[in-house]
Amino acid sequence: MAGKIEIDQMLCKGCTLCVGVCPKGLISPSQHLNPKGYYVVTFDEAKGECTGCTLCAVICPEVAIEVYRD
Ligand code: SF4
Ligand code: SF4
Repeated sequence: MAGKIEIDQMLCKGCTLCVGVCPKGLISPSQHLNPKGYYVVTFDEAKGECTGCTLCAVICPEVAIEVYRD
């Protein structure tokens, strides 16, 4: 099953919990500051296939990640 995620840049606080939990390593810290002054994380599906496992969304304390499955 293939999936993808969307990260709400306004909600993300850059804690990077999602970075460590993704088994595919698809989420990375970035140098991009959101309007609240947090370095947000980015999702790069070119690094591998998102399975839609939802681990990133479940661990996010800000509920900033939505997961979509095909
Ligand atoms: S749903 Fe799973 S595979 Fe997809 S980005 Fe989140 S943790 Fe990684
Ligand atoms: S767990 Fe949530 S708040 Fe923390 S870096 Fe990931 S998306 Fe941002």
